[in-house]
Amino acid sequence: MRLYFFFVFQKYIRLLTRARKRTENREKQYFCRAGLRFTAMPNRKKNTSGKVRNLILKLQRNEIPDAQEYREVLLCHDRNAVSLLHEAAREASVRRFGNGIHIRGLVEITNICRNDCFYCGIRRSNGRVTRYRLTRSEILGCCRRGYASGFRTFVLQGGELPDSADRDIAGLCSAIRSEFPDCAVALSLGERSEEGYRMFREAGATRYLLRHETRDPVHYSRLHPPGMSLSNRLHCLDMLKDMGYMTGTGIMVGSPYQSIGNIVDDILYMARFRPEMIGIGPFIPHRDTPFAGARRAKAYSVAGGVEDTFHVPLPEWDAGEMTLKLISIFRLMFPDAFIPATTALATFYPDGHERGILAGANVVMPNLSPPSVRDDYSLYDGKVAYGAESAEGLDELRIRLEDIGYRILLSEA
Ligand code: SAH
Repeated sequence: MRLYFFFVFQKYIRLLTRARKRTENREKQYFCRAGLRFTAMPNRKKNTSGKVRNLILKLQRNEIPDAQEYREVLLCHDRNAVSLLHEAAREASVRRFGNGIHIRGLVEITNICRNDCFYCGIRRSNGRVTRYRLTRSEILGCCRRGYASGFRTFVLQGGELPDSADRDIAGLCSAIRSEFPDCAVALSLGERSEEGYRMFREAGATRYLLRHETRDPVHYSRLHPPGMSLSNRLHCLDMLKDMGYMTGTGIMVGSPYQSIGNIVDDILYMARFRPEMIGIGPFIPHRDTPFAGARRAKAYSVAGGVEDTFHVPLPEWDAGEMTLKLISIFRLMFPDAFIPATTALATFYPDGHERGILAGANVVMPNLSPPSVRDDYSLYDGKVAYGAESAEGLDELRIRLEDIGYRILLSEA
């Protein structure tokens, strides 16, 4: 009998060792593909779920974790531990917002842009885009359709128009506010002058989304042309906050040259900035940009080929999971924040909305733009703009969210 147990036990140990070897080999392959020397994940042998548990507890107690603690959780591959993180974030979201998901109507007012961000499909240098700019009456038409379906927040997003457009944009904000006084106007129109932001605010816009994209000036300069600077972007965010906007920021996950260290810096920056809205989505290449081949190229190796253990580059396969992890971390850091399950996440995963919400997101932004221009607002390849991603598909979205125990909140700004 004792011998029997001994053999069963031995077999069990052998199976465990084999499973661990298999995971290790898989990681080794990913790292080789990313052009890196494989070094064992620092947290594999340690108790990873303990690290995640500690981070959750710290955030729940309003304590401030340090860079290393965030880093370990970002690098943790233990499925059970990551599920714990999502669960805790989901709980925090439900405690604060119940099972209601806020719905914002997204109107992509123009794809004309003076900037040339390397990652973006509507960058100035892309000659293959048919440029458009919706008129005020077209935009009001979108809002009317949205209002009838129950939308009470309109997000006007677009490329960066010249400064001369400020007056028009302000006029548009006041037109929306006077026709729909019970609705909120949110803007996502990039970097503007102080005067511009002030005009929009006075015209009735109360929210502004401007992702900082990365907190590292060197990384920033690898994503943007020389005319653009991180310091101006951060300055814009400070101005928006000072002017009393509900301010949103965030990053793309898996953007070329991004490292885990960069993401940790983004978290620490956001801990100081305290945004009220947080937009995070996976980077998805666009065929007509300099980053068209980013997924296949060794774009993730660290600057100068220097490998240090802190700047572990983020393998592209991880962008979806890393986005979900970050949604959960931000939910625990900011229980009151509006965190959308973004369009990029819904493009990355067919059930991206559901995954985002189950990781702690509480906003979905269906597309209200006229269908005739939707394909021209192509920030990245395959961007979804129809079905559950659109205002027409609200019923589909409702059913899908009900399937995971949530309901959409209409008639709320
Ligand atoms: N021009 C405005 C708003 C439009 S871009 C601005 O710069 O804020 C909105 C967001 O889309 C950007 O902040 C960026 O994070 C995201 N985006 C752009 N290109 C992308 C890509 N290739 N993959 C994923 N997200 C992208």
